[in-house]
Amino acid sequence: ATPMSIMVGVGKGATAGVLIKDAASLERFEKVDTLVVDKTGTLTEGKPKVIAVAPAPGIDEATLLSLAASLERSSEHPLAAAIVASVRERGLPLRDVADFESVTGKGVVGTVGGRTVSLGNAAMMRDQGVALGDLETRADDLRREGATALFAAIDGQPGGVIAVADPIKATTPHALETLRNDGVRIVMLTGDNRTTAKAVARRLGIDAVEAEVLPEDKNQVVKRLKAQGRVVAMAGDGVNDAPALAEADVGVAMGTGTEVAIQSAGVTLVKGDLAGIARARTLSRATMRNIR
Ligand code: ADP
Ligand code: MG
Repeated sequence: ATPMSIMVGVGKGATAGVLIKDAASLERFEKVDTLVVDKTGTLTEGKPKVIAVAPAPGIDEATLLSLAASLERSSEHPLAAAIVASVRERGLPLRDVADFESVTGKGVVGTVGGRTVSLGNAAMMRDQGVALGDLETRADDLRREGATALFAAIDGQPGGVIAVADPIKATTPHALETLRNDGVRIVMLTGDNRTTAKAVARRLGIDAVEAEVLPEDKNQVVKRLKAQGRVVAMAGDGVNDAPALAEADVGVAMGTGTEVAIQSAGVTLVKGDLAGIARARTLSRATMRNIR
């Protein structure tokens, strides 16, 4: 490869907010035919908000939220931030937690005021031996609107559902449309619930959805697509996306995301605007044309 053409490409990218760390990413981008894209923080803003609180019978909304937020204060997950923010807005108390534990891709558990409280997805509740009953129906209604439903359990009994929704980035629909028109197939990859994922995907015209994927399995999805002969770019922001970013032919991190993701990717979109992916492909084409 001609270093000069590469340098020009890298420079043009930088001006447009697309940081290209290695020449190989720029060379490969023109061949990319599949974009695997994380949902939370990549397609969406990653700034979820509590949109509904449905306590189980005998529990009041304030108690449910307060217990949940007390636990989430120790978590770094974006969902945790949403719950803590909602409790602060409502002026509810945050209480001390003992024996805190965070289960990656599932949720959090701890002791609050002598009660064992857990908060997370259905898998978390299964692990805790909690039967969800009617809460599952309520959760499904919320998921169909694209919200993420978090279950709470108090001393092994269902405590309620807290629904959190994350707005789609304003720049996402157009960026996906450009890529699609350019022949790129889009695959959504998320640890979130399938119904939630599909509701968000439908809004974006994405028909391939890999949901409920555990953090340690995200890279397997990329590996499988590569084995099918696809040239794969992976876009993500989270710690849990890092192995998949490294596995992809081209890893694309959101500059708004975690440091680990940025370090695992060859390309960083400074402002997290996915339009940078189409731009990088165009640059790659121009660069490779110059070299050839
Ligand atoms: P994503 O791939 O969408 O970034 P994660 O793998 O981080 O999602 O998490 C998957 C699911 O696990 C979340 O959608 C949520 O239901 C649950 N979860 C993970 N961390 C927490 C937490 N701190 N509090 C509540 N639920 C959580
Ligand atoms: Mg994410």
